[in-house]
Amino acid sequence: MKEKVFLIRSSGESDPELSAKLSAFLDSSGLLDFIEANDIIALKTHFGESTKSGYVRPVFIKAVGDLVKGRGGKPFLTETSTLYRGNRTNALDHIMTAVRHGFGSENSSMPIIMADGLYGDEEVEVPIPGKIHTSVKIAALFSRVQGAVIVSHFTGHLAAGFGAALKNMGMGCSSRKGKLLQHSTAKPRVKQKLCTRCGVCVKWCPADAIDMEEKGARIDQSRCIGCGQCLAVCRFDAVAYNWGATYEDLQKKVVEHAMGLSALLGGRALYINFLTRISKDCDCMDVYENIVPDAGILVSRDPVAIDAASLDLVEKAAGKKLSEMAYNIPCGFQLEYAKELGFGSAGYELEES
Ligand code: SF4
Ligand code: SF4
Repeated sequence: MKEKVFLIRSSGESDPELSAKLSAFLDSSGLLDFIEANDIIALKTHFGESTKSGYVRPVFIKAVGDLVKGRGGKPFLTETSTLYRGNRTNALDHIMTAVRHGFGSENSSMPIIMADGLYGDEEVEVPIPGKIHTSVKIAALFSRVQGAVIVSHFTGHLAAGFGAALKNMGMGCSSRKGKLLQHSTAKPRVKQKLCTRCGVCVKWCPADAIDMEEKGARIDQSRCIGCGQCLAVCRFDAVAYNWGATYEDLQKKVVEHAMGLSALLGGRALYINFLTRISKDCDCMDVYENIVPDAGILVSRDPVAIDAASLDLVEKAAGKKLSEMAYNIPCGFQLEYAKELGFGSAGYELEES
């Protein structure tokens, strides 16, 4: 079955102008009609690791929150702690980062409540018909809400190939243990010939798994949790992954966790993907460099359909594969595995609003 995906095309508008277009579409589309009076609705987005990344700006988030309120719902902003060391490792640092980036209630008119508690360990085990896991660990708060709006920024990604709704759900809505499960097979190594001994990876490794030796950094495979942070922070290409053994596994596990979240929400969710400010790396990184012209905003009730449409639109806009613009890895496992599991629909019907 083909699921509907709606496109709100952008053509150089300012953020407030594009936000007004999104509001007008959502208000008239009926896509938020699953929200009933007094429903508590989680609005999940990514607050950005630094102001330099291309995260979805607060003006859009406020517009969505206002529409939820217009239907009698009670929205709040939510996120989960990251695995890597940075500005979003625990609830306190994460909330202060969100406030610095303009997501505080004075701008969004919504409170921020972390979905996985103070330290990222509040979780629920959700049974799924997966082929790798039969249950996944989702941030506990998602089991207590009456619905969700998942707002995702489409970007390239060093292991998932691309990050959008499925990645935002699977990795972004799982507990710390859930994230660890997804990363567990990705164990990098340092090519010591290229290592300058700068020590940056040692500082950032959340598992203290990197030792500095005379010839360069060395990763202790038994301590490494596979978070990928060392790869992201090394500026000398000295950290290497055996991608063949990792990206397929990671993408499939992301899908299984997304499936777990979807099961918890029971279909009471709307997905909004921003195909704007598209960068090679996800918003966990400190840098942002536009690799594709903006295509607009996609909206759907199906997380798989919206990601399939997003990838197609981005590649069409660029006239080449995402793997030629971002990381040279296959990114189709997310969509193929969702199909294999009967989760969502990779077939979609695009309708321009
Ligand atoms: S960041 Fe790269 S160059 Fe620096 S110590 Fe780590 S592996 Fe070596
Ligand atoms: S060594 Fe392992 S745990 Fe440490 S940053 Fe690299 S991938 Fe993460």
